[in-house]
Amino acid sequence: MAPESLPALQQALFDAKQKALAVTVIGEGSNLLIVGDIAGLVINPRISGMIVTHDEGESCLVEVGCGEHFDELVAWSLQQGLQGLENLSLIPGTVGAAPYQNIGAYGVELSDLLVWVEALSISTAEVHRFSLAECQFDYRDSVFKSHQRGQWLITSICLRLNKQHSETPLVLHYADLAQRFSELEEKRQNAAGLRDIICALRRSKLPDPQQLPNAGSFFKNPIVTASKAAFLQRHYPNIPAYQQATGRVKLAAGWLIEQAGFKGVRHGSVGMHQHQALVLVNYGGATGKQVMEFAERVKQAVWQKFCVELEREPLLLQSTH
Ligand code: NAP
Repeated sequence: MAPESLPALQQALFDAKQKALAVTVIGEGSNLLIVGDIAGLVINPRISGMIVTHDEGESCLVEVGCGEHFDELVAWSLQQGLQGLENLSLIPGTVGAAPYQNIGAYGVELSDLLVWVEALSISTAEVHRFSLAECQFDYRDSVFKSHQRGQWLITSICLRLNKQHSETPLVLHYADLAQRFSELEEKRQNAAGLRDIICALRRSKLPDPQQLPNAGSFFKNPIVTASKAAFLQRHYPNIPAYQQATGRVKLAAGWLIEQAGFKGVRHGSVGMHQHQALVLVNYGGATGKQVMEFAERVKQAVWQKFCVELEREPLLLQSTH
């Protein structure tokens, strides 16, 4: 079912409780791996609305309903003269799903902009407003995905976005963003120009899930100890490695998969994409089980070559019977 209001969602949760049905919440399904039928009640919350609620001078607070498309939010925020979301352009999925795994791209994570998340308790249908600290955001992770998994239904979020004339610089340190940005006409060197660059980059590398089914990055970028990274760098001098504030080092899963020989490799209807080895593609008709089996082969190959364990990024929904 797809309730469009808070009372309708609360009613659905009450009904499910009365009938002792398990509840599964999904957005657009763009980051899900489904294996088998899902028992119980599946809810696709559709609360809409994007509104500027407070003007703080150099920034504004923006509240957004969980059912909005994330990329439409990005486009709308730029039209309102606000910046901050442009690096997250063209990420598929809903606003409600975004905090779940703290979406991130090109050096920006949702948690950099988030003020609060409102969610309904799945067991009591009560509303709780999570502060940024309570969300326990981490790299592609949050309290909703890990510590209290399955306990909350996100209904809305609040973001703090800067006005476009404010002094806050754009985030240009990933890939060749700064170079591409400097090549734009001067009047386009702004947040909207950066959005255009990111959209073009993503379209050139990533298959459109509407055309070629995929769930974006299939594995998280592994974060390893400094000594492990140093060991790998001695053996593979070209290995991309990004120092983290914690002292650990992030490796690029796509590079590891490519070196393990899986870029563009297809087994039956499943394969790793030929332009971006991190994206697992269903060429048509592959079952969730076949996807899991292929992913396991990729994991094994990376483990055998680098002794690095890849972790799946999309959420797995499995039948319980
Ligand atoms: P890429 O440029 O081929 O780089 C590979 C990886 O290296 C990226 O995943 C990124 O990690 C990391 N990286 C690159 N430059 C970095 C820097 N300056 N500092 C720290 N880490 C750096 O990446 P790509 O595949 O084209 O992706 C570009 C961006 O889009 C990345 O941020 C990626 O996460 C994001 N993306 C996300 C999804 C998804 O499904 N979640 C799908 C596609 C792309 P990070 O992933 O930690 O940023």
